[in-house]
Amino acid sequence: MDKQKTILAVGSIALDTLETPHGNRQDILGGSATYFSISAGLLAPVKLVGVVGNDYPEEGWQLFQSRNINTDNILVENGSTFRWGGKYSNDYSTRDTLFTELGVFENFSPTIQEADRLSPLVFLGNIHPDLQSSVAKLTPSAEYIVTDTMNLWIDLFPEKLKEVLKLSTILLINHEEAEQYTGQSEISNAASELLSAGPEIVVIKKGADGACLAQGESRHSVPVFPINQVIDPTGAGDSFAGGFMGYLSQASQPDFLEAVIVGSAMASFCVEGFGVESLLQATPTLLAHRVETIKNSMVEKV
Ligand code: AMP
Repeated sequence: MDKQKTILAVGSIALDTLETPHGNRQDILGGSATYFSISAGLLAPVKLVGVVGNDYPEEGWQLFQSRNINTDNILVENGSTFRWGGKYSNDYSTRDTLFTELGVFENFSPTIQEADRLSPLVFLGNIHPDLQSSVAKLTPSAEYIVTDTMNLWIDLFPEKLKEVLKLSTILLINHEEAEQYTGQSEISNAASELLSAGPEIVVIKKGADGACLAQGESRHSVPVFPINQVIDPTGAGDSFAGGFMGYLSQASQPDFLEAVIVGSAMASFCVEGFGVESLLQATPTLLAHRVETIKNSMVEKV
């Protein structure tokens, strides 16, 4: 295996309150950067960029430390950590945001230590597009800038998101968001439009229906790993991104279909428990098993 490349990741570090058909949780560790770093950290060195309030629990710092996730670029500000609340429908097909409390995110201006600006892989997790752009501009020598977003930012700041897409090499987005942004309901058409906005590669995630990899004119589908029961899908997209980039960190000549398969396998751990709890049970061996299962199901389909 080649030397692993470091991933610099910006995103939200949050306390989440969740209502699901399987139960509720209050103020548990969450946020796009948290899910991403735990999953990518299984395969690669990860450095986080973000902000928390001085109410951020010790449990969170211990988690990052136990996973060797570098926190040198996380600012601690006087004020409240970002909080988000979400409620899932009975069949998990939809999710409503109950509240978004920006707290210290409101005045966040990312700072990145000089040496870390040279990180070859950069993840722009789900946060305000202006913050994503500022991190992308601070890391101009990155080989890959991989971007994620959500419906809120597409609704509020489509023009700012356009700027982020111009700076991105790879976009990871879910089907509803792709349709919302492009107005195209057909996946291949939505992918074409997103490709013309900047990224060389677009991955459209379709929840339980897998993901579509689009590069130039080519389109490939990857199924999900079949799990017994969904408990909490929060963070599945960020875990997908973590698997995807964790693979990129290890590959000198990346095969992007393989990256999507690893992303899909990683996301399957996330949804099996509340918050990060089941993601923390993942190991490289268990992940490799799920990757093989997905690959076998693709061969069977041919
Ligand atoms: P996902 O399920 O992949 O959409 O990611 C869920 C995570 O995104 C949760 O842990 C939230 O804390 C975080 N999140 C929700 N809304 C926002 C937002 N507006 N900005 C940044 N992070 C958010």
